[in-house]
Amino acid sequence: MPSPRYWREIPSRYRLEATRCGNCGRVSHPPRGVCPACCGTDVENIELSHEGKVVTYTVVHVPPGDFLMEAPYVLAVVETPEGARMMIQVADCDPASVEIGMPVALEFRLIRKEGKGGILCYGHKAVPSYPTGEEEGAELESREMEVAHA
Ligand code: ZN
Repeated sequence: MPSPRYWREIPSRYRLEATRCGNCGRVSHPPRGVCPACCGTDVENIELSHEGKVVTYTVVHVPPGDFLMEAPYVLAVVETPEGARMMIQVADCDPASVEIGMPVALEFRLIRKEGKGGILCYGHKAVPSYPTGEEEGAELESREMEVAHA
């Protein structure tokens, strides 16, 4: 698997773009030319933080065809600090460990493949926002061991 650092090198596709309404302040993701809340057209493009919190979620036991994911997996509504909400897969964790209010990081990942050996589609997935990286990896392991011994 390519590392998250690898994907951050693709800036244009990695961006999480949204629009904010100049009239009522509603943030929409994906971007919209007309505000879905007040029908205002005074919208500006913004980039969302790559983090958020789980608002609600569901566990999917039978994935649709072509999706590169093993069931069961978690599909969640995640809200970013800007107030945008998106339906997104929560990866890299046990579905039983997902809970409402859980902080997540939004990472750019491979989502699915169109047909046999076809086009690869990329998009964002949510992952639990534990510390990542080489230095913090050791810390995470020791914390997991503490939990196991508790
Ligand atoms: Zn509006």
